Amino acid sequence: MYIDSHCHINFPEFAERLPEIFQRMQDNQVSHALCISVDLETWPQVLAIAQSRDNLYASVGVHPDYEDCTEPTVAQLVELAAHPKVIAIGETGMDYYRTPGPLEWQRERFRVHIRAARKTGKPLIIHTRSASEDTLRIMRDEKASEAGGVMHCFTESLEVAQAAMDMGFYISFSGIVTFKNAKQLKEVAQAVPLDRMLIETDSPYLAPVPFRGKTNEPGFVKHVAEEIARLKGVSVDEVGNATSRNFFQLFKGAR
Ligand SMILES: [Zn+2]
Ligand SMILES: [Zn+2]
Repeated sequence: MYIDSHCHINFPEFAERLPEIFQRMQDNQVSHALCISVDLETWPQVLAIAQSRDNLYASVGVHPDYEDCTEPTVAQLVELAAHPKVIAIGETGMDYYRTPGPLEWQRERFRVHIRAARKTGKPLIIHTRSASEDTLRIMRDEKASEAGGVMHCFTESLEVAQAAMDMGFYISFSGIVTFKNAKQLKEVAQAVPLDRMLIETDSPYLAPVPFRGKTNEPGFVKHVAEEIARLKGVSVDEVGNATSRNFFQLFKGAR
């Protein structure tokens, strides 16, 4: 059994194909998936998908790449997160790669999410790209360890992974770990203990080998587990079981 801890199946490319997507999850023993919010404008669709099936959940938050959208307040996030299908806050974090210019708004938005997570007791889904130093600094500043969470679609160094794990965070690997040129990330996956690890697709992006370049979907998360099993020299069942156990350990709202 496998769990996709991060997908965006509310995106328009999936609208017509959802029954097929759910069937392929079942065929590949992908038992659950967490549907991730990127802004408040589309959040109702994320919640609707999560409500449509027992094995789907939602997060609520505003992505750091979305500059021109409704800026959430702590109170607003806390209120939206009260829904029983909402098991996490995010995705949030820092991205200095995609978004140019002065990014004080990104840092402030990240702080708002951490405060909401601490208030609700729901863990954080953290996105960090080319911004690991500031991400970790703000996590420490705002006591993110009190909420816990996951560093999603991890592509940073082992030092960054270790710093996040020291704060009680999990590290989530996506299809990137299956790419031939992801040598450094493969080494990070070898070093991160199985009991601190989650797996994800981040679909529709980042389809794993052998589907690289195609539209990704939750059923493909099995290929991420297979690569991690290969790298660690353990069985794929062991990776599936450990990461599924970790998922329920972290997201207390998921049952
Ligand atoms: Zn992300
Ligand atoms: Zn995402």
